[in-house]
Amino acid sequence: MARATNGSCLCGGVRYRVDGPLRDVLQCHCHRCQKVTGNFMAASGAPLAAITFDAESTLTWYSPADDPNVAYGFCARCGSSLFWRLVDQGDDDVHVSICAGTFDDAEGLRTTEIWFAEQAAAHTPLDPTIARSTDR
Ligand SMILES: [Zn+2]
Ligand SMILES: [Zn+2]
Repeated sequence: MARATNGSCLCGGVRYRVDGPLRDVLQCHCHRCQKVTGNFMAASGAPLAAITFDAESTLTWYSPADDPNVAYGFCARCGSSLFWRLVDQGDDDVHVSICAGTFDDAEGLRTTEIWFAEQAAAHTPLDPTIARSTDR
């Protein structure tokens, strides 16, 4: 069954729709994601081709100086963290991570992986029942 999921940043400067299935949520506790999100990234995802922007006037992409191959998408007005993607693949077959908190309705999503558990902040409890990814 076709499924569409809407999402936005806090202020509405960025609004998007995803047509089709969403990836399960993964948590990334790497130092970068801690800085970008304020704690850790909890991201679903979808192919770029499945994402339609209803508003993107404030969407801004930031690539860390030491890794221009990745980019975080955020709202330049309200600061919401929205997306993460690789940039050197062009726009073909690109998979975009979508911060799950930006969905208007995230019903049915579940967290299935924890990345960079060893970098997780001491104040952040990690669910021992969720698989740790060891190759990232
Ligand atoms: Zn915003
Ligand atoms: Zn990360």
